[in-house]
Amino acid sequence: MEPSTKVKKKTLGDLIIAVDRNFFPMMEVSRRHALKALVTERAEVLCLKTWNRKAWYEIEDVHEFSCILYPGVQAVKDTKLKMGKGFRGILERDEHTCQYCNKRGNTVDHVVPRAQGGTSSPTNLVAACLACNQKKGNRTPEQASMPLLRPIRAARWRLFEKFTHLTVTYHEKREAEYAKIQTP
Ligand SMILES: [Zn+2]
Repeated sequence: MEPSTKVKKKTLGDLIIAVDRNFFPMMEVSRRHALKALVTERAEVLCLKTWNRKAWYEIEDVHEFSCILYPGVQAVKDTKLKMGKGFRGILERDEHTCQYCNKRGNTVDHVVPRAQGGTSSPTNLVAACLACNQKKGNRTPEQASMPLLRPIRAARWRLFEKFTHLTVTYHEKREAEYAKIQTP
């Protein structure tokens, strides 16, 4: 992907938000820097609408993404990420909603079961209704054909939400700036 025109060169220099594996925003990097991190597989594209992660070969347009995630990087130590409220914290985080069927959920499920090596960290726990929890049993969502309705919220989910808000504001600001440039 060699930049052939001046325009392309310029757009490769625009700024991308880089987040660590806990979705903690770390810094802004140039698109060129981001692409380099992607092709060397140190980073993945993070879609800010769906929070899905994509590898570099899955992206269609190198100018489309605006956030990358470094799965191997952790900006804040795990000990500081603990929610401190145990299972109650998980239920609060998931708003007492079963992450498998969207009904009211008052139990906590290990996504990867402990029997299969799953941990009790917030990134492996979701709220579930009793029926789904029992139906899933000691299986992963894949084994039980019970996919999660949404990605598991990061441990620092309040920060995560703030970040979502920030990025939306950031996009609006950038769109406004582009509109200004294009309006004579
Ligand atoms: Zn359920």
